[in-house]
Amino acid sequence: MMDPCIFCQIAAGVIPTPFVYTDDDVVAFRDIQPQAPVHLLVIPRRHIASLNEAHDEALLGRLMAAAAKAAAAAGAAQYRVVINTGAQAGQSVLHLHAHVLGGRAMAWPPG
Ligand code: 5GP
Ligand code: ZN
Repeated sequence: MMDPCIFCQIAAGVIPTPFVYTDDDVVAFRDIQPQAPVHLLVIPRRHIASLNEAHDEALLGRLMAAAAKAAAAAGAAQYRVVINTGAQAGQSVLHLHAHVLGGRAMAWPPG
């Protein structure tokens, strides 16, 4: 049966997507609707619905380390890492992902 989670399908290579960075636990790829010149999504290979369900702290550490490596691989030395958690915070895909946004000046506070 087809996995219903789009990011699980991307991580498994079922939906062919070039990876900017990959390791045993994490893959990073470009957002399909980029909000900045560099806009990457960094996800655990394993399905975790959101940061609220992420109880593996070592994996979270690897996800953050991967975000920095993916940013470097994409040529961004300055960037923002965002994890939208819950619908109100803007989470639309229920597979944990860190956005890496760079390549332009960022406003604060975010919308
Ligand atoms: P969220 O809104 O959950 O924080 O972020 C989900 C992100 O996934 C959005 O920025 C959206 O553009 C991106 N996205 C959704 N579907 C796909 C897809 O099939 N491929 C890629 N590369 N990005 C996707
Ligand atoms: Zn998933």
